[in-house]
Amino acid sequence: MSTRTVLVINSGSSSIKYQLVDPDSGERLASGLVERIGDSIGTITHKHGEEKTEITEPVPDHGFGLAEVLRLFEEKGPTLSEAHVVAVGHRVVQGGRYFSGPALVDDAVVAKIEELVPLGPLHNPAHLKGIEVARKLMAGIPQVVVFDTAFFQDLPEEAARYGLNREVADRYSIRRYGAHGTSHQYVSQEIAKRLGREDLKQIVLHLGNGASVSAVVNGHAVDTSMGLTPLEGLVMGGRTGDIDPAAVFHLVRVAGMTVDEIDHLFNRESGMKGLTGQQDMREVWKLIEAGDQQARDAMDVYLHRLVKYVGAYTAVMGGVDAITFTAGIGENDKRLRAELCERLAFLGITVDAAANAAPAGEPVTISTPESAVVVTVLPTNEELAIARQAVTLI
Ligand code: ADP
Repeated sequence: MSTRTVLVINSGSSSIKYQLVDPDSGERLASGLVERIGDSIGTITHKHGEEKTEITEPVPDHGFGLAEVLRLFEEKGPTLSEAHVVAVGHRVVQGGRYFSGPALVDDAVVAKIEELVPLGPLHNPAHLKGIEVARKLMAGIPQVVVFDTAFFQDLPEEAARYGLNREVADRYSIRRYGAHGTSHQYVSQEIAKRLGREDLKQIVLHLGNGASVSAVVNGHAVDTSMGLTPLEGLVMGGRTGDIDPAAVFHLVRVAGMTVDEIDHLFNRESGMKGLTGQQDMREVWKLIEAGDQQARDAMDVYLHRLVKYVGAYTAVMGGVDAITFTAGIGENDKRLRAELCERLAFLGITVDAAANAAPAGEPVTISTPESAVVVTVLPTNEELAIARQAVTLI
């Protein structure tokens, strides 16, 4: 039985994801998802041990959704009192320049997150809804916010600043904030523990539907591929990643597109989806196996971008000791890992094919003992990282 747990909440515009986590053992006691909030019909899925409960009903708003979740905890277990919930941890995407670590929620913190809505228009309003209803429904429990940008808050100025007119950049807060920071921090810390040393030059490849790379020296992020928004950097499931901003001018002038149309095109209809018709890497590989040349070309675009970032970050750090794969693609896609490492052979990387083929779920070193760089596959666990950060404040 856990002595204390944290309820971790990731509140989206039409969904609430949650996990009940023991921050000390890392055990996940329960998890669930409220989907299609505001639609005519929604679903709530709650998992406790082997038992899975699914409810289909209208979920008009976040308050109703969370109340249903709390009811499921009481009915299906574990009850929140027997689980000793000591904090609620909220994931927040955009912390701007205010938050360099987790914060205990009060009215002033809520006001700051509100102020940052223009920098995180898709995410922060949804997080605020989750925070508001949790404060109301779980009034006796401390609420903590953990920011996706916090790990990159102290990026060196040379990495955070764009070559944009200084006055305009500063007036409109345009700089590189990064994202996925909780994952990059968790993974780089786990690697330092595994290798038994802090003085490491690390590259973390968080390759999920959204994807980002970070360069971490002695535990501090020195660069990362996502910028003002999560659009910058790698080719992703549906996002372009790096693209000449003049493409925007061109589409406005020549194609007559609006800003919203271009936003949608770059963030949702591009990347692997826009190149191949398939957003999921497993489907892209199926196309490649069936001889689809466009899919093979798209995979090469994806890999080429990755090689460029690894090369650039190795140069920025003056070397690299450890490269780590994480998130949906990083943890599961052995063929992509093998192809990328082959392209990185110039770094002295050699991969143990059997280790690379090991089933996903556990951390595995996939480089050989002779490899000049330790290459690891390490499952990320953002919920555990949020839970651990939350208890530092209570
Ligand atoms: P996010 O949290 O950004 O939504 P995840 O980290 O969960 O994304 O990653 C989801 C992606 O992982 C899927 O879109 C898919 O492309 C990829 N993925 C999952 N399993 C595999 C697999 N076995 N092989 C290749 N790719 C996979």
